[in-house]
Amino acid sequence: MFVVGMIIAGIIAAFVAKDAGRRGMNAAGWFFGVFLLLIAFLPIYFVVRKPLLPQYQPQLPQPPQGALSIASTPVPSLCMHCDKYFTGQAEYCPHCGKAQVGSVS
Ligand SMILES: [Zn+2]
Repeated sequence: MFVVGMIIAGIIAAFVAKDAGRRGMNAAGWFFGVFLLLIAFLPIYFVVRKPLLPQYQPQLPQPPQGALSIASTPVPSLCMHCDKYFTGQAEYCPHCGKAQVGSVS
């Protein structure tokens, strides 16, 4: 039973040491601390452990740049006569000068 406890303590200590290393902490120190005083050190570890180092943090998908700026910019309108785009809502096309009837929006 003592051997089983040593194996369990070793597994947990190895897990803590690996986790501590990823957080820039003393992996060897935490390994021996947890291994020798599992009951005392394991709760302490979860209290004092630092956040994960940036290179180990999961990469969150970045929102596409410009998705918000498109909504703020004037929506280009397509002339129904010459098929050219012009900015904003114009009554007459700046390209061909024909009246834009029947607003799309
Ligand atoms: Zn036009």
